Amino acid sequence: MQILDGKKVAAFHRERVERKLGDLLEHHIQPELAILRVGDDKPSALYAGSLQRVAQSVGITAEIYHKDVSARENEIISMIEHLNEKKSVYGILLMMPMPEQYNVYRIVNCISPAKDVDGLTDVNIAHVFTGQPGFVPCTPRAVMAVLDYYHIPLVGKEVVIIGRSNVVGKPLAQLCLNRNATVTHCHTRTRDLQAETCRADILIAAAGKAGLIRADMVKPGAVVIDVGINRIDGKITGDVAYDEVAPIAGAITPVPGGIGSVTTMMMLENVICGQTPTD
Ligand code: NAD
Repeated sequence: MQILDGKKVAAFHRERVERKLGDLLEHHIQPELAILRVGDDKPSALYAGSLQRVAQSVGITAEIYHKDVSARENEIISMIEHLNEKKSVYGILLMMPMPEQYNVYRIVNCISPAKDVDGLTDVNIAHVFTGQPGFVPCTPRAVMAVLDYYHIPLVGKEVVIIGRSNVVGKPLAQLCLNRNATVTHCHTRTRDLQAETCRADILIAAAGKAGLIRADMVKPGAVVIDVGINRIDGKITGDVAYDEVAPIAGAITPVPGGIGSVTTMMMLENVICGQTPTD
């Protein structure tokens, strides 16, 4: 069994980001990532802070723009429009979840697709589906980066993905399809989850349910990718019951130290290296 080490993958991509950033700095360009946060959601405040620290450690300017829950929707949109125009801003990240009173769809689609480094706008989502270059959401990109780093081919493979959110499951399924995998999408209404997962050559869990994937749900030798991040008794754990699945799997990502380690670097790569191929 091989452990798919997200830290190694992140380090590989960090080098790429630093090289490209060096080129920009030589041309006196100091790119900025604008992190836009509305309201007081604690996890997103923590994530914004940690993203800012990692960005700055690489040499990217990262500014957090915070708006109070009382901010009017048009105020937030004006700020986005200002950032769209600001030349030094290479990427705009709108932190989720936003407070309920806002029309998130409308706000997200005010971000210029050319600066939408989290791949949330309709334009970038469409590009994933049509196989055009664009910004791909960072977590699906992180999964592909891990598979690529470890030379795990997708062509003709049975890929089973648990989860169908717009930011993780759906784009990930499309990226796998673009690479000629046969993709099955599972969700809360899937009738027999075990029957589906047992067919997987590559099993990707992105459900947000700690320990959902047990040993008897995995085909021996399968590649198991655990996207889940769950907080149990103050500890971070994935969707896969790691201790029982690891001995059966051919390869597996740990949590922590797997996909999560790569996701932040994918964000920085999107900021510095721009839009990427989606196939
Ligand atoms: P979400 O809640 O929007 O979607 C979860 C999906 O899983 C849904 O489509 C649901 O149908 C499916 N699901 C839930 N329980 C299931 C079950 N018992 N059986 C079958 N399907 C089930 O979550 P999300 O935003 O897509 O995130 C998924 C997980 O990935 C979460 O744990 C989240 O914290 C994690 N995540 C990790 C990273 C990272 O960098 N590693 C980034 C984003 C999200």
